[in-house]
Amino acid sequence: MSLHEFEVIARYFSQTFPHRADVIFGVGDDAALCVAPNGMQLAIAIDTLVAGVHFPPETDPKDIGYKALAVNLSDMAAMGATPAWMTLALTCPPDTHENWLAHFSYGLRELAECYQVSLIGGDTTTGPLTITIQITGFVPAQMALHRHGAQPGDGIYVTGTLGDAGLGLASIQQQLHLPVLARHQVESRLNRPTPRLREGQALREIASSAIDISDGLVADLGHILAASQVGASIYLNQLPLSTILREQLSLEAAWQLALSAGDDYELCFTVPQHQESALSKALVTGSYTRIGMIETLPGLRCVNASGQPFIPKSKGYQHSFNLNPDDPDN
Ligand code: ADP
Ligand code: MG
Repeated sequence: MSLHEFEVIARYFSQTFPHRADVIFGVGDDAALCVAPNGMQLAIAIDTLVAGVHFPPETDPKDIGYKALAVNLSDMAAMGATPAWMTLALTCPPDTHENWLAHFSYGLRELAECYQVSLIGGDTTTGPLTITIQITGFVPAQMALHRHGAQPGDGIYVTGTLGDAGLGLASIQQQLHLPVLARHQVESRLNRPTPRLREGQALREIASSAIDISDGLVADLGHILAASQVGASIYLNQLPLSTILREQLSLEAAWQLALSAGDDYELCFTVPQHQESALSKALVTGSYTRIGMIETLPGLRCVNASGQPFIPKSKGYQHSFNLNPDDPDN
């Protein structure tokens, strides 16, 4: 059966998402109309997932829908914002099965309902499978978390555990074979990351800087260091590693994943010494770990258990562009 663009929108992307009082008009006109609360600034982010680049094409469409929103919610978390509205640009191959759309929309809605995010509009086109979600959230004026602001002497912290999504990817790519329960657990860390929204909001008056870890700790902490014009040391024996990661890998291989694998969507943040007691009241014990210290000396130093430097093999994922040498602007 073939469905037209407007039938797809009506069936899967209009009625069944959470309704919010601040949405005056959602799907169905040339633009959505929304009202922002007084005293709030808007935090706006966008993220694209491309089949074959960000997920294997055969990934469960429920997971694709879930993750497309989760990665955007993670950006809201890193800013200390509360998400409210999203738009969805969905490009699907013309032979996409209706079941695929039903499952994709189900996974997206599952997470949208958890955080009461309205789907207020979008664009539906045919082409290689690509999902773009743009999200808008609220943050009290002047209270957003930023990548800049880390100062020498601040502690460096992360939420959750690191490297599990990387192990999930290795498992999906059959680079190693895990017991079935462990496999489900790490593949779910990859496909259904938990956006640390509660933590991000709780850190608003406490953290001096924050970022979410999408490309790997070294790469993303590197953005904090560059924006704050500082350096840092991280202590590898303090990295929070899950039991699965410790059981399945050598300590060194576990560190490599924790440092360089992307897709964990944990928060990395810095806290001045005088805010440490506020931090321990704001976040649940065990949900975050101190892993290092901001320093004046530029650069990032990874230090192993015996105080020796450790050089990670990879610095994290980056898309690269093969710029055309004949381009006159090049
Ligand atoms: P226009 O031609 O004015 O850009 P469209 O015909 O693309 O509008 O879309 C019609 C309506 O459906 C708009 O309100 C648009 O925001 C919404 N829409 C289109 N695609 C999606 C989608 N994938 N998810 C949610 N809303 C969508
Ligand atoms: Mg129009």
